[in-house]
Parts: sequence; structure tokens; C-alpha cells
Amino acid sequence: MPSPNCDIESLIKSQALSLGFDACGFAAATPVDDEAVASYDRWIRQGRNGCMQWAAGHRDLRRDPTLLLDGAQTVISLALNYYPARFQPAGALRVAYYAYGRDYHEVLREKMTKLADFIEEITHCATRPCVDSAPIRERYWAQRAGIGFVGRNNCLILPGKGSYYFLGEIVTTASLSPDEPCTMSCGDCGRCVEVCPSGALRDVGGADCNRCLSCLLIENHDESLPEWVSGVAGDRVVGCDECQLCCPHNAHAEPTTIEDFAPTEAVMTLTRERIMAMTGGGFRRTFAHSAISRLRLKTLRRNAALVTDVD
Ligand code: SF4
Ligand code: SF4
Repeated sequence: MPSPNCDIESLIKSQALSLGFDACGFAAATPVDDEAVASYDRWIRQGRNGCMQWAAGHRDLRRDPTLLLDGAQTVISLALNYYPARFQPAGALRVAYYAYGRDYHEVLREKMTKLADFIEEITHCATRPCVDSAPIRERYWAQRAGIGFVGRNNCLILPGKGSYYFLGEIVTTASLSPDEPCTMSCGDCGRCVEVCPSGALRDVGGADCNRCLSCLLIENHDESLPEWVSGVAGDRVVGCDECQLCCPHNAHAEPTTIEDFAPTEAVMTLTRERIMAMTGGGFRRTFAHSAISRLRLKTLRRNAALVTDVD
């Protein structure tokens, strides 16, 4: 039972930190504001969601968290550091940091379930943890819950910590005092716009997923990609971190202490030859608990075949 000297909000935050989360904030579960809805709708209308057709669905759920959980009062936003302590060696085909270790869905779900159980125990209210499992505007809620701001690179940036963070939300019927929204912004930086190898950030209002290498290499499962992609993908086969690597907010990123996110042997030794020689069963076994399993072997092979500048 909570100590009478400690408010519920502090107890939940301190439990989140003790579970390994790096940030936790609360926002009232009122509908997403009109400006954010209009901006998202514009992004979809312009077709900038590319192959991510799912992003166009569930418009109502995306707007109103009470449709995700009856009687929802609060959206709790959580962030978990994945910045690696060790990196792939030269010669390994490049994998974005988020996919180095164990599948973040598994890791986050375990931690969020524990936190949700704790919240239910001390508040006697209902919870619904969301880890890419519900249509919820996670960066919007993170900003509203005060844990960071959305950068020009479309990542959530935690002030003083950077952007290598997984996000998760717990929608709850518990009424918790909301935190102050984060009001920081990129100012006149624009470095990521310059650095993006494919020009996906040129237009304001969200990345163009038709050009973003992260979307093309991970979400797009077509047999082949547009010809220009091989000219800019370099040795990347899973995602792209370029717009985070260049961001000044990541200059002092601290490595995660979560061992699950350390690079696996398969990631450290990933070569074109290994990918091409892999069987379906080998792929499933190798990446059973990795976010790379979501790519499918045929997509990973397609990406590896594009690599032109690594032997
Ligand atoms: S992930 Fe890569 S391709 Fe996509 S916007 Fe960032 S830098 Fe550009
Ligand atoms: S590189 Fe600059 S413009 Fe891009 S997200 Fe970081 S601070 Fe914002």
C-alpha cells in the first residue's frame, strides 16, 4: 500500500525508474488537439506515410484515448534508453541501434506489464499498456506528458538525454495530475535535414516515408525497391540512424544499462554472405527474439543485395 507521505504520482514514477525506465510523465486523456490531428491528416493525405498503410487507419482511436480504454483519465508516457555500449565492427552490414539486441516489444512489454500491475494495485483502476499494439500517437503523448519534444527528425528528444529511447504508453482510468508539456524545439538547427541521405526530411510536417530508408528497408516488403535506393542505402540493411547520429542532443548519449539491448552475435557478424546463405528456419532461429524477425528473410535478402560498398 502507498505510504501516506507519498503521492500516487511520485510512487508510480519511482516504480517506473526502478523498473529501468528513464522517463515517465502523465497527460490527461483528453482528445489529441486539433492542430496535431490536422497535421497528421495532412501527412496522410499527401501520401507521405508511404507503404505504412496502417498509419491511415483507426483515425478515431488515434485521436481519442478513451476509445482505447473505457473511462481513461490519464496517458502515462514512458521512455527506455537503447543507446548501445558496443557497436558493430567494420565490415558488418549496418543495423539501426534499436534492433541490435532483444526485440524491444518483449522488453518493454515485460516492464510495462509490471508497472501496470503496480498501478492497478495502488489505484484499483484499470490500465492498458501499449507497445506498438494500439493506434496511439506516442510522440504526441510523450510531449504532452513533458518527457520530450518532437524533433525535425521526427524522433522524440528527451532534453539532456537525446533520442535513442523506446516509447511506451499506459492508458489508465486512474486520474493522475498531469505534467507540464515540453515546450522545447529544434530552434534553427536543421542538421538532420542536411544529413539525411535520401532527402526524406526536406519538407516540414513529417518525414516522407517514400524516401526514408528506415521505412523502405524495414516496412516495405516489395520484391524490389526504387533504383535510387541502392545509391544511398550504403551498407545499411536494417533501418537508418543518420538523423539521430547527427543530432546535437545525442552528442552525450549515455549507453543503456539494459543487457537485453546489447548487440547479438548475429548482428555483430552480419554479412551479405551470411544473409544470402540463410534458410527460412535459420532466419527464424537467429532472429527469434529480435526486431529483425519482423523484416522477413526475403526483405533482408533484398536489402543485402543492394549493398554495393561493403565486401
Ligand atoms: S532515418 Fe535515415 S532516411 Fe529516414 S529520415 Fe532519418 S536520416 Fe533520413
Ligand atoms: S539535428 Fe537539429 S533539427 Fe534535427 S532533430 Fe536534432 S536538433 Fe532538431
